[in-house]
Amino acid sequence: MPKLADKTICCGCSACANKCAKGAIVMTPDEGGFLNPMVNNSLCVECGLCEKACPAIGPTSEPTAIQRAFLIQHKDETIRRQSTSGGAFTAIAQSIIDEGGIVYGACMKDGGVFHIGVERTEDLALFRNSKYVQSDMKGAFKEVKAHLAANRSVCFSGTPCQIAGLKYYLGKSYENLLTVDVVCHAIPSPYIFERYVELTKKRLPNAQKLVFRDKKRGYSYSTMAWYDANGKNIYRDSYEIDEWYRLFLHDKCDRSSCYACKYQNQPRMSDITIWDCYNAHDLCPEMDDNKGTTNVIVWTEKGMSVLDKAKHDVRSKEIDVRLTIKAATEHKRERPEWDEATFYKDAHDMQVEDFFNKYVPRTFKAHVASVLRYLLWRVGLHDTVRRIIQKRRS
Ligand SMILES: Cc1cc2nc3c(=O)[nH]c(=O)nc-3n(C[C@H](O)[C@H](O)[C@H](O)COP(=O)(O)OP(=O)(O)OC[C@H]3O[C@@H](n4cnc5c(N)ncnc54)[C@H](O)[C@@H]3O)c2cc1C
Ligand code: SF4
Ligand code: SF4
Ligand code: SF4
Repeated sequence: MPKLADKTICCGCSACANKCAKGAIVMTPDEGGFLNPMVNNSLCVECGLCEKACPAIGPTSEPTAIQRAFLIQHKDETIRRQSTSGGAFTAIAQSIIDEGGIVYGACMKDGGVFHIGVERTEDLALFRNSKYVQSDMKGAFKEVKAHLAANRSVCFSGTPCQIAGLKYYLGKSYENLLTVDVVCHAIPSPYIFERYVELTKKRLPNAQKLVFRDKKRGYSYSTMAWYDANGKNIYRDSYEIDEWYRLFLHDKCDRSSCYACKYQNQPRMSDITIWDCYNAHDLCPEMDDNKGTTNVIVWTEKGMSVLDKAKHDVRSKEIDVRLTIKAATEHKRERPEWDEATFYKDAHDMQVEDFFNKYVPRTFKAHVASVLRYLLWRVGLHDTVRRIIQKRRS
């Protein structure tokens, strides 16, 4: 019986299941819907390959060649609006498609989030915008390996632990593989997300498409937004009210292993790291337009060469890496005091409205905060007030 990572450190990357040629490992959801490996002893031949592919029980660091930091905005304003921050990922991915390659990322389908590969420019839209739910890797690592072996360029994007899982699964480096990770403070529960979708469909039967970081009210006032089948917006709210945003931002249903995360250190396993830039006004005032800017750190020569190819699609400004590297590499968080067992039991037992009302009620205070923020936005003061509050806090 192989010794894989236990639940406190298993990040659910699926490297072990992808590795097992005997089909002895099935990724199985726990009470939160988080996938964990289940080994079928009757199929296992004890070859040990799954253990070698597990990033959680091996060292993660690889030396990085360089460290350069950039602020990036896609020149195509539609792409930037659809993206979480500045749309840097689409520009990077496009340069791989331009050379006949294939791009892997997280997309939403049937109320869940999955990793898939795409080779057409128009399909890159599927990856735009963060999905704040753990994505299911399914057989993506196997597919990536087959493309690499066939000498195809591959861009693989995901959370830092997913990049580590892929690298361990592959077991050797490939010149034709580019990896892009997102800074990730934690990944929330797929099962609670399923219930959030159920709640939304009860309230809004026409709800079809969810955007986790909709920028209608600007980058600094991101909202969760639902659209109907005709693309009409039917719901918009932010973290004062929206149940999912509140659970996510208050760390109420994160994967346990995120509190033991070792994948966001330095040196990084990826070629490029991307994340939100909320302080463009300090770092580069001419890019401060409240439409979104991506922070980018390039760790390898390969990453730099791909970013150079992507530069004709973006506005880019190199900044001193010391100004941003801490935000990309320091991941130390205390687990909040939280009766997780009761929370998940309730999630399974209670009516969906009662469950969310118990844990994230839409109180009078929450409504007042939401309305105040909206009014500030309407009179054009939202960003200014937000910055004053941010400055006072820091
Ligand atoms: C779960 C999660 C937590 C995050 N936490 C933070 C944070 O705390 N602070 C911060 O500054 N930034 C965080 N980010 C990163 C940020 O939201 C943006 O991804 C980043 O700013 C890049 O934006 P972009 O406009 O360049 O790319 P976009 O066009 O928005 O591209 C999104 C990229 O993210 C990937 N992605 C989307 N959803 C998932 C998912 N569920 N799992 C794996 N990969 C996914 C896509 O494959 C694609 O590569 C987080 C992202 C995710 C997915
Ligand atoms: S030890 Fe080998 S056969 Fe057994 S589960 Fe792991 S990879 Fe599969
Ligand atoms: S390979 Fe990934 S999914 Fe499998 S045990 Fe290790 S961390 Fe968990
Ligand atoms: S916090 Fe760490 S372990 Fe959790 S999803 Fe992000 S990279 Fe993976």
